Amino acid sequence: MPADRRRERQAGVRALLAAEGLEALLVTHLPNIRYLTGFTGSAGLLLLRADSAVLYTDFRYATQAPTEVGGSADIEIDSASVWDRLKRACAEQPRQTIGFEAHALTVRDAGRLKECAGRTAPVGELVETLRVVKAPEEIEAIAAAAALASEALAEVLPTIRAGQTELLVASRLEAALRRRGSEWHPFQTIVASGPRAALPHAHTSQRVIEAGEFLLLDFGAQVGGYCADLTRTVVVGGRADERQRAVYEAVRAAQARARQDIRAGMTGRAADALARDLLVARGFGEAFGHSLGHGLGLEVHEAPRLSATAEGQLPVGAVVTIEPGIYLPGWGGVRLEDDIALTADGPRGLSDGLTELVELV
Ligand code: ZN
Ligand code: ZN
Repeated sequence: MPADRRRERQAGVRALLAAEGLEALLVTHLPNIRYLTGFTGSAGLLLLRADSAVLYTDFRYATQAPTEVGGSADIEIDSASVWDRLKRACAEQPRQTIGFEAHALTVRDAGRLKECAGRTAPVGELVETLRVVKAPEEIEAIAAAAALASEALAEVLPTIRAGQTELLVASRLEAALRRRGSEWHPFQTIVASGPRAALPHAHTSQRVIEAGEFLLLDFGAQVGGYCADLTRTVVVGGRADERQRAVYEAVRAAQARARQDIRAGMTGRAADALARDLLVARGFGEAFGHSLGHGLGLEVHEAPRLSATAEGQLPVGAVVTIEPGIYLPGWGGVRLEDDIALTADGPRGLSDGLTELVELV
């Protein structure tokens, strides 16, 4: 059994709250509620005070919530309205200012909170600040998800042929992920062929893959709530031509350099530059229009960011993706993405890092 860190995490949030002069935080962002209590339901409010943690949820979770939350928080079930229940709790301490997660509360719910508590204050991403630094078991869960994703791809790659649609390939990949134990697809699987590979966030379509085209596959897996995120680009039904090879090798070299040289203590900007400088030097600067990567954890996109504007330092224990790409409109594109944990001893690859060009002939 991994260590139960929920109380420790709650204490961490309280310390951050105190630094902002607050005694209470209403946590509404579900991944944060999960992080602090273990609750995985789709509706709930967590009120964290200096001396208590109370989860408000509804009838659907009357059995599930106590099982998941255990002793980490008190649970109050209200089938009518969790907000009414919260209002009563706030009335007990009318002078208390309740912090709320400004990035996660809808305008409607901010109005509801205002009715519950006279005094409210927006706070930044407090819980997310703690989530950046992963405990060993969190890193292992991401590694398990990444391993499963690599295995699913290895199963499906040999079945890919010209003449198949992108959606057929995606359905096989998603089935293989689920069969191996992925709890869900943390984002919509991208299978993009030919010129559509130039769209960094293409929707998988009915397009028929043609011989000699690039096929870009960007897909995820989830284990114990933790996400992996992988991208591979292959050539289907033929050998790569000269231009395909040049573009692919540029992305591969940039990705390999960033995977090898990224370190905790660097800024996100410096990490981004590891790959970007190489692509710029090869004349592809304009074609790499997104950032190098993002944090991974309970969410597939979380802190820290690796981008040209990210001045924050990457801490030991962060898990990030490294995913440079080249996108040439009308022609196609290449992206390669792996998942890396930043340890005190340097980067540790969590995904397989197998980026040699695959030609499915
Ligand atoms: Zn991805
Ligand atoms: Zn990604």
